[in-house]
Amino acid sequence: FDQLDGVIWYDGHFVPWKDAKVHVLTHGLHYGSCVFEGQRAYGGVVFKQTEHHERLHNSAEILGFKLPYSVDELNRACEELLVRMGLVDAYVRPVAWRGSEMMGVSAQSNTIHVAIAAWQWPSYFKPEERARGIRLDIAEYRRPDPATAPSKSKAAGLYMICTISKHAAENKGYADALMWDYEGYVAEATGANVFFVQNGKLHTPLADRFLNGITRQTVLDLARRRGIEVIERRIKPEELSGFTECFLTGTAAEVTPVSEVGPYTFKPGEITLGLMNDYFAEVQPKRAAAE
Ligand code: PMP
Repeated sequence: FDQLDGVIWYDGHFVPWKDAKVHVLTHGLHYGSCVFEGQRAYGGVVFKQTEHHERLHNSAEILGFKLPYSVDELNRACEELLVRMGLVDAYVRPVAWRGSEMMGVSAQSNTIHVAIAAWQWPSYFKPEERARGIRLDIAEYRRPDPATAPSKSKAAGLYMICTISKHAAENKGYADALMWDYEGYVAEATGANVFFVQNGKLHTPLADRFLNGITRQTVLDLARRRGIEVIERRIKPEELSGFTECFLTGTAAEVTPVSEVGPYTFKPGEITLGLMNDYFAEVQPKRAAAE
């Protein structure tokens, strides 16, 4: 992925894609002092861009560092990047990390670097699997207790167990894995939130111990607009047998129907497909009122 053409915004400048490198003694690489975002542009406009850049700032603050660029500056950098890359529908990846001046756990005075890359990424899951619902494994690892890890930060370090879980699932033929929380309740997938349907009502785990996804919040709004009752609560794994529909939400995953979680099966139904359509409509750039 480091040999593509184009440019990457790197510490305030556009550099050739292949030259956007870090030193091997980068603190973010050794100690996980790194946060990132995942955004999507539709029709040339990043959906909820400001919310994503605010979350990037917040993620860094939780890890104890401050980004040297404002939300406005990051918004403008992204917009210019899309133009320079000639991208209209794209995935956008801002990342921020502590640099390489000091080596050791303490790195108080290391430079904070920020980069933004963008590329075409039409579908997070294989389109043919997505249409009939993806299959999820149950992860061996659990999401960490908020008293153990900064679970509200989109911190690179928290993705170590996600990658282990996703690889294990893929090696068994699944598309992804569903993870429980530290108390054994249903939490989220390795890069997306999860929803269930029972008797026309939407159930989703309370997002007080993992990332409250921007897509999750959007889908909750869309469901309420449709008059669907939404119940945010602790969900026990054994309750999965009582749900008829299941789907994932995330910037990359968008709204993705799920057909299996371990031994439990689901069928993409009216609510999943309705919210999938609503989400696609919602992310389209809004035309100015005068048009
Ligand atoms: N949980 C995790 C672990 C994620 O990586 C993501 C993707 N950022 C989400 C949930 C969904 O968040 P969002 O809808 O803001 O993309």
